[in-house]
Amino acid sequence: MKFKDLGLNSSVLKAVEKLGYETPSEIQDKAIPVLLKGEQDFVGLAQTGTGKTAAYGLPLIQHADFSINHTQSLVVCPTRELCMQITKDLEGFAKFESKANIVPVYGGARIDEQIRRIKKGAHIVVATPGRLLDLINRNAIKLRTVQRVVLDEADEMLNMGFKEDIDAILEQTPTTKKVWLFSATMPKEVRRIAKNYMSDPVEITIGVQNSLAANIEHQYFMMKEKDRYYALKRIIDHYPDIFGLIFCRTRRETGSVSEKLEKDGYNVVSLHGDLSQPQRDAAMRKFRDRTAKILVATDVAARGLDVDEITHVIHYNLPDEAENYTHRSGRTARAGKSGLSLALINTREIYKINQIERVVKVKINYTRIPEAEDICEKRMYAMMDNVVKTQVDDEAIERYWPVIYEKLQRFTSDEIVMKFISTELNTFLDYYKNAGNLNAKEGEEKGGRDRGDRGGRDRGGRDRGGRDRDRGDRRGRDREGGGQNRNLSGPKEKYFINLGEKMNMNKGALLRLICTGTGISSNQIGRIDVQRSFAFFEVDAAVSDKILPKISEGTYEGKTFTIAPSDNKSPKSDYKKENRRR
Ligand code: AMP
Repeated sequence: MKFKDLGLNSSVLKAVEKLGYETPSEIQDKAIPVLLKGEQDFVGLAQTGTGKTAAYGLPLIQHADFSINHTQSLVVCPTRELCMQITKDLEGFAKFESKANIVPVYGGARIDEQIRRIKKGAHIVVATPGRLLDLINRNAIKLRTVQRVVLDEADEMLNMGFKEDIDAILEQTPTTKKVWLFSATMPKEVRRIAKNYMSDPVEITIGVQNSLAANIEHQYFMMKEKDRYYALKRIIDHYPDIFGLIFCRTRRETGSVSEKLEKDGYNVVSLHGDLSQPQRDAAMRKFRDRTAKILVATDVAARGLDVDEITHVIHYNLPDEAENYTHRSGRTARAGKSGLSLALINTREIYKINQIERVVKVKINYTRIPEAEDICEKRMYAMMDNVVKTQVDDEAIERYWPVIYEKLQRFTSDEIVMKFISTELNTFLDYYKNAGNLNAKEGEEKGGRDRGDRGGRDRGGRDRGGRDRDRGDRRGRDREGGGQNRNLSGPKEKYFINLGEKMNMNKGALLRLICTGTGISSNQIGRIDVQRSFAFFEVDAAVSDKILPKISEGTYEGKTFTIAPSDNKSPKSDYKKENRRR
């Protein structure tokens, strides 16, 4: 089906085209013709992400008579976030209806301003239940002209305790109105609304009720309770491009996880019931504009959260109700994208996975918590991709070039590349230096209460770090004979060896390796620079011809190594050559 086959008029079709929608989604396909006819009440069982806003929004716009200045349609939804999103969507659908006035009303914003906008003549009001009731009680809004009421995310509204408010609102509307109810699930309470306020509704279910998009991959990770937070960090570190939502069970847990992540250097915001409206708004703004890559939230606070392109939903703790797993996971893989839903469980919680698999009918696959090497490798490749993508601004660089040149001229271009990559990578290498394996087996923990996260293995210092510890180590190694001040006065040649700290190499050991391997005396070896997985050393040019014939390859502590002359081009010459090419 195409949008034009659904009975939509030209103004709405133009708006749809402008939004870039090409084919109707399943719920749009099924609901739009019925809602355009407008003769019956309607129940649509569909998740967010299925395109349900347009499924009811396009018919709402088409039914509206924008030349009459009274409220013809009312959309009621659970949260302020959703209220703003629906309004924005409806405004998009009414793009070519210049007189359309669509007014959002929600708590936490100035009521006098909302009253003023309603008084100007709101054709469609989009409201959260509490604020709408407030407006009704102040006589600021009249609902007797309303012809259609949409109850969006009805199950969420009931979960949030809006049952009485919804009853009170519907009581204010004429009996002739039509009710269009949308809900992801159909618990008893939603059935009750359908029974009390609808007659013979058309009912449409999209997919299996409670089902999750097929493009979500479900995984679980098992660790000891004390390692839960560290496992979370490893998962985040393993996905450099994460734009994720972490669900916690309580406000306290949400606050504690987000605080710890922030302290550990992650761009994170949180949403929970203890925040004021301005704090919530600020958090959402940061998340939407991606200043924050991670949002930590409780189930209630994240309801109605409508952000496309969330790549990962992480269940820091699984919800008690299997249904909430569906709601949470449905925040990813929206609008045809794919996503990951990742659950952290301790060794006594496998029953929760089994229960969710049974109720929600998804397969949640066991996955190992990434180990240090996986993370460092992923990070390095991501960094390299970034470097490759980065555009160079010649003019800007030129200005700083003398200082850059001054500072970097003593390094070769190979060294500079390695140093730049290491600026990112070292943080992870340092942090994960002595990191163990956090994967645990079912039942490995004894019964009793969870012990919180004391004693995790990934406890580096601040800033994912242990930098101080590292510096101490290096001082120790210098005393082993490598020496800091190994300056050769005459001409020298520089060599590269693919052994570094990771393979137990240090300055003293490298000095011994070269001297014994070549017969060169230690005072003919100059500066030695040992990095994580490689090293450089200088050799007096007079004896340098002994290096490669004698020791270009070999083994050190069971590891094979190669030595090669290091590229001695200066950074300046490289930069100029590059500029000439352009
Ligand atoms: P909803 O379920 O209404 O929250 O919609 C989920 C997302 O899908 C929103 O970002 C919509 O803009 C987008 N969307 C809705 N319908 C279509 C369509 N037919 N084609 C492409 N995108 C759509």
